[in-house]
Amino acid sequence: MRKYIIMGPQGSGKGTQAKMLAKDFDLVHISVGDIFRWHVQNRTKLGTKVQRYMKEGRLVPDEMVADVVKTRLDIHDWRHGFVLDGFPRNGAQAEFFLENYDIDAVIAIELPEDAAIARMQSRRLCSSCGLDYNLIQLRPQVAEVCDNCGGRLVTRPDDTPEAIRARLRDYREKTQPILDLLREKELIVTVDGTPGPDIVQAEMRRRLGLAAEMVEESAERQPVGAA
Ligand code: ADP
Ligand code: ZN
Repeated sequence: MRKYIIMGPQGSGKGTQAKMLAKDFDLVHISVGDIFRWHVQNRTKLGTKVQRYMKEGRLVPDEMVADVVKTRLDIHDWRHGFVLDGFPRNGAQAEFFLENYDIDAVIAIELPEDAAIARMQSRRLCSSCGLDYNLIQLRPQVAEVCDNCGGRLVTRPDDTPEAIRARLRDYREKTQPILDLLREKELIVTVDGTPGPDIVQAEMRRRLGLAAEMVEESAERQPVGAA
């Protein structure tokens, strides 16, 4: 069983890396942000509550987050393990998690803030299948159209300059400090998020003691929820 948490500033590619790892090792990718976006898109009761926080780039209140994480982990639909993406993000969430769950490692992707900002500003998302693009590194074949399904590419509502600033500030002030706590428990594996996705992935596997040769050049990309 492999149970990982993946952390990193917004734009560090943690979602992409989590998907690549989950696909090859048959792990379940659990993205708290994706779960919230699903609720917003489907206009659930929770979705109407979290929408404003998300749009402004603020953290959703801890009780709601803990609820979502607990409900998701209670499903227990993995055979080989999971990669939890987007949790914990502050001290209270870290405590809740460490008291209730066991994990094997926390993968921390590092990226300087100016690089993170540039990546978020060039990020686009398919409005129908959720596949993500980057106008610098991962361009669609036809401008503004999804390669996978032909859907229209849009900017994430929380990728505005104000929301980006707020999210990075929260990461620096609230999330970063919990990395020190996890470091004391010797759970952290740190990787440089600056190179391209395949290189970051290979380094991550090497550091986790997983077979690195499974990374294939330009691994096939999966839309959200397809894995
Ligand atoms: P990013 O890492 O770029 O912020 P995510 O998709 O992981 O993107 O999360 C999107 C939004 O969902 C966050 O800005 C926040 O509003 C909310 N969110 C996700 N995870 C958490 C969490 N652990 N605690 C509070 N809010 C969260
Ligand atoms: Zn698409």
